[in-house]
Amino acid sequence: MEPQTAKTAELVAAGQRRYVPNYAPKEMILDRGEGARVWDTDGNEYVDLGTGISVTSLGHGDPELARALSEQAGRLWHTSNLYFVEPAVRLAEELCEASFAERVFFCNSGAEANEAAIKLARKHASLRHGPEKREIVTFRNGFHGRTLATVTATAQPKYHEGFEPLPGGFRYCGYNDAAALDDAIGDRTCAVLVEPVQGEGGVVPAGSGFLAAIAERCRAHDALLMLDEIQSGLARTGRLFAYQWEEGLVPDVVTLAKALGGGLPIGAMLVGPRAAETFQPGSHGSTFGGNPVVAAVARVVLRRMRSAELLANVERQGERLRKRLTALHNTIGIIAEVRGKGLMLGAVLRGEWAGRAGDLVEACRRHGVLVLQAGPDVLRFLPPLNVTDEELDDGMDRFEAALTEAVNAGLC
Ligand SMILES: *Cc1c(COP(=O)(O)O)cnc(C)c1O
Repeated sequence: MEPQTAKTAELVAAGQRRYVPNYAPKEMILDRGEGARVWDTDGNEYVDLGTGISVTSLGHGDPELARALSEQAGRLWHTSNLYFVEPAVRLAEELCEASFAERVFFCNSGAEANEAAIKLARKHASLRHGPEKREIVTFRNGFHGRTLATVTATAQPKYHEGFEPLPGGFRYCGYNDAAALDDAIGDRTCAVLVEPVQGEGGVVPAGSGFLAAIAERCRAHDALLMLDEIQSGLARTGRLFAYQWEEGLVPDVVTLAKALGGGLPIGAMLVGPRAAETFQPGSHGSTFGGNPVVAAVARVVLRRMRSAELLANVERQGERLRKRLTALHNTIGIIAEVRGKGLMLGAVLRGEWAGRAGDLVEACRRHGVLVLQAGPDVLRFLPPLNVTDEELDDGMDRFEAALTEAVNAGLC
């Protein structure tokens, strides 16, 4: 690591002093990026295997995205939803063409997309059923956002503490616990909200048949099947949507955000025929939703993510990354298990290293590679989907060096 300059130290201190202290950012200032690499203000280079939590999925500084952004920036920035704009209308068409959906609602984040889905489920039930059918079933260790409703949908007590009273109407079920579905999903259920691969909860894919079993219970009880693909969607697992790994599954709602804007804020709720007409004028809204600049960029993102070439790269690099991690399991021996799909992989730490993912993430940063954790026990990898052999190899060499040094030093 280069020594920290006075300017970097001053900026870090100002951030620490002036941000509400809900984050604990690393003590560096990222300054520019290209492809899978970013540089800080002290001149250190990092291989970015975290993509800002599955957001910059086409890497940094992509010229085609930059062109779409600047073209639209020179034309029109904002109109509100009192008027149509071409980029958002086309994006809605293209999202429907690529999926089960008939209609799309645009917003600005993942939490907002899930908030829309929660409201849609309740409105849908209110038009068809009595007030007893309003329960939304979600899954332990899931993650759906930080607004009051979405944090309540997030069935993890650590996110709830101090924010009570939480809104009612949520019920929690064990993830991948098919036997528990019969009890959890019933006449009171208006919708089920589930991640096809749990991200924050430790990179845990739904077991084969689990989503289909949920879908069957939903059909039997006239409940909407709502999939949170905010992290797992948009080619991250090697298919456009992670639910497509489950043969024949058709959801009613899918929520997207993170990667859709290539780094700009956008969220989307995709709605199939059962609930496409539920929201009517006045039901719901967002001032910025469908912003033309972001939508123009998202159109390019979506087109690239649908390409066979990109999906093939996700599969190939996912296999290469998995092999590297599995090899490390054999040589360094602190990885118990590698799980996930495509380029959404988690390395589960074992033995005395369990609980120390945060220390290892910092050790990696010092060795010039940005990785994430998913809880205290899992190192999470979300590289750019167009990552090259050279970038991934370089990142994993740095990762291996970081782990080797940490183990030898007994650092953690
Ligand atoms: C990140 C995430 C969210 C929340 O998205 P924000 O844009 O941070 O509000 C919701 N669900 C899942 C699965 C996520 O990974």
